[in-house]
Amino acid sequence: MAVHHRLQHRLRLDEPILEQVQRFTYEEMLAFLQYPNFIEEGQEVRLHRDPSEDKRRKNDFWLNMLFCWAYVVTLVGLTLHHTHRPELTLTCVNFLLGLLVWTLVEYYFHRFLLHKEQQPEKITPDKFAEIVDGHGIHHAFPQYRPVIVINPRKIIVYSVGIYLGLVWLVSTRCTLAVLSGIIAGLTCYDALHYWMHFGWPTSFIPLLNLRRSHLKHHYRDTTRGFGVSSTLWDHVFGTSHR
Ligand SMILES: [Zn+2]
Ligand SMILES: [Zn+2]
Repeated sequence: MAVHHRLQHRLRLDEPILEQVQRFTYEEMLAFLQYPNFIEEGQEVRLHRDPSEDKRRKNDFWLNMLFCWAYVVTLVGLTLHHTHRPELTLTCVNFLLGLLVWTLVEYYFHRFLLHKEQQPEKITPDKFAEIVDGHGIHHAFPQYRPVIVINPRKIIVYSVGIYLGLVWLVSTRCTLAVLSGIIAGLTCYDALHYWMHFGWPTSFIPLLNLRRSHLKHHYRDTTRGFGVSSTLWDHVFGTSHR
């Protein structure tokens, strides 16, 4: 905590953050990622020296939602186009399977890639910058809106990869149904994640529990609560908050 207080005095938000974190010690880096920094609503967090790099990194939530939901509707429409009436139940099962697959992918990525354990003796200043440029910026500044949702270009690339990988193994109908479920799950993840940080209050218990688990991941223990749109896999793998 003392390290974090020291950092708060040193950190300059008008100077590129990635250049500053490259000068951090390992302990300072841990403190930077573990303790959220407060920023004013609308305040800019400058990551790179080149403003065009920062612009590429930012995504508008509402544009993202517009794109994602239109994409989900298109995929579901294509799926139904390839579904004959007797296959409808199977298509629904495939869609639900896609949703379930998304929750596992989300858990896996968040736990093993975005929070990958680092060996202090091997970590380099460039690695510090890479971590902060990825998930680290969201942990250091959870209230910074432009870096929360997934870039639509990445969603298209992932979709093409999933489609090409699956269509060799199963029918076009099944591929599209599973892909629709995965992209619907991803869209719900983006919407829920944004709501957890900036949304209106709710008394709906399942949503409250999801939000509580994610906020504990930010503000209490970053080694637990990796599921965002579902806590299922945290229960399965024993990483729920205590
Ligand atoms: Zn995280
Ligand atoms: Zn978050």
